[in-house]
Amino acid sequence: MGLSKTIWTNPTEYLRAEAPENPVLFFSPAAVQSVARRFLAGFPGLVTYAVKSNPTEEMIENLVTAGVQGFDCASPFEIALIRRLAPDAAIHYHNPIRSRSEIKFAVDHKVTAYSVDSSSELAKLTEMVPVQIGGQRVEISVRFKLPVQGAAYNFGAKFGATSEQAAELLRAVAAAGYTPSLTFHGGTQCNDAQVWAAYIREAAVIARAAGVKIARLNVGGGFPSHRDAQTAPNFDAIFKVIADTARAAFGGDLPALVCEPGRALCGDAYTLVARVKSVRDENHVFLNDGIYGAMFEFSQIGIIDRISVLSETLVPRSAPIRARVTFGPTCDSVDRLPGEVPFPADIAEGDYVVVAGMGSYSTVTNSRFNGFGELGMVTVLGLGL
Ligand SMILES: *Cc1c(COP(=O)(O)O)cnc(C)c1O
Repeated sequence: MGLSKTIWTNPTEYLRAEAPENPVLFFSPAAVQSVARRFLAGFPGLVTYAVKSNPTEEMIENLVTAGVQGFDCASPFEIALIRRLAPDAAIHYHNPIRSRSEIKFAVDHKVTAYSVDSSSELAKLTEMVPVQIGGQRVEISVRFKLPVQGAAYNFGAKFGATSEQAAELLRAVAAAGYTPSLTFHGGTQCNDAQVWAAYIREAAVIARAAGVKIARLNVGGGFPSHRDAQTAPNFDAIFKVIADTARAAFGGDLPALVCEPGRALCGDAYTLVARVKSVRDENHVFLNDGIYGAMFEFSQIGIIDRISVLSETLVPRSAPIRARVTFGPTCDSVDRLPGEVPFPADIAEGDYVVVAGMGSYSTVTNSRFNGFGELGMVTVLGLGL
């Protein structure tokens, strides 16, 4: 990925000047900062950013500028990145499975918050992580899961203790002298605030069963970005449910709240522009980007339908929609966008396909498979065409 140092006014100004052959992700610093401020002003607790969703330096730097002071990291690479770009920020090492060398790396980098979902991994932490680091007591958050639906995918399938295990782990964390907390991650692209409510109520049940007053409750990520043209996310409604439910469930033992959004902070700050390589016999559309590139997530949770198409001379295509089978550029037949994509019927070779809301799980999943994946990164003042 080449990082452009020039700032363009909008994507069309760049397309007119450069007519790029390769796909380009357009990035708006103003868009990141504005959504970050919505979270900082509205969420009733600490906002941390899930670095995995988009670890580009421009993202991290703009979040820091907007006032984000905490980061959820899953690997030594991410920890080193945050220590370099935001030396004073809090780091939460919230990948519950770590090798011993990874734990050592985190301790050496003065990470004071960890999550855990099993007694085997808690044993590794208590063996290797001092109870205090740099004068600060280390927090261990027990990650639990519920069999709830509502998110685009189910994170409980991989991580999270059952409620009974979680109560036991919480007692063990407190007995070992660490700050006991609870955490969960209900899924991603979740538009249903009741998913958070169900988890928060269960957290109170777990704390009570353990007989432990938790310091913090981390409500995870999963806040939606604007993927479906018809449904713009309503963060304030979700924040209110989180605050109200926590107050009702915990009463006088209300823990400090933390969230760790990824997608919601980076998703809508980027627009992808891909190009039509071929409309094969008027039927199949082939793009120069696909699921081995910035569109990997489409294969997991469906396409983003905030799509517009411009001709080579940048005139918007406006014919009635005719959905097409659409492929990416590689020779692998898996490289197909799910379903059929609603393109204007007059879409043609050389056209630009503009997809909004492409900032999350795109820069990171882009691969060089088959020699493709040369993804341009261009900064713009605004994402409006
Ligand atoms: C991926 C992840 C997040 C961020 O998820 P989004 O859906 O992008 O908000 C937050 N917390 C944990 C533990 C994660 O694994």
